[in-house]
Amino acid sequence: MYRRNFASRERAKRVIAIFRQHGAIGPEKAMTSAQLGLPEMFDEFMERRGGRRGVIIEVSEGKYYLDEAKLKEITSNAGWPVDRTVIIKEKEIVKIRCPYCGNLYDGSLDKCPHCGAGR
Ligand SMILES: [Zn+2]
Repeated sequence: MYRRNFASRERAKRVIAIFRQHGAIGPEKAMTSAQLGLPEMFDEFMERRGGRRGVIIEVSEGKYYLDEAKLKEITSNAGWPVDRTVIIKEKEIVKIRCPYCGNLYDGSLDKCPHCGAGR
């Protein structure tokens, strides 16, 4: 558990560093994840942390920027919150993390669409 949380925090730092390198730190400078050269872990990051905490803002058409003010607010408090890894509720869709393949899937399904494992 500790290890997992630590890994997520390192990942969050890497995502933030990438936004800073590209200067995508305002709505008029928003870039797509492809332009930023973000690896596929970015989607998961958005789902679990950046999006929920409002650190990475999605402007439109998959364009994102880093909200430095928000980031400062969060990191000056208690740092990143502890992960709740199993169920994530966002935009009224409950997602479940498959214990077999690790992908997230819609909670209304009774099987993982990625690997077919049951709940
Ligand atoms: Zn699966």
